[in-house]
Amino acid sequence: MPAGTHLALAAYEWYPRVGVRAQADLHLWLVDAQPLNDDFAWVRGHVLGCTWDSSDCELPWCREVLVSVRALRRAVGLG
Ligand SMILES: [Zn+2]
Repeated sequence: MPAGTHLALAAYEWYPRVGVRAQADLHLWLVDAQPLNDDFAWVRGHVLGCTWDSSDCELPWCREVLVSVRALRRAVGLG
């Protein structure tokens, strides 16, 4: 999955931490993704509106969240 991919995640597709449900949709520019198990992956990225897309963000990534593998596949057009 290429870095810079735009991920548009509905609240039910991502988790701020294990066992914690998200309360809102999340838009991320992908930095990297590490599989946790068959269903979820840790995704690191920059939030929409962070300075990464216009200048240089201070951080390699802004957010690290759990995302359902199904949602990741959908986001990159693999189903
Ligand atoms: Zn950033």
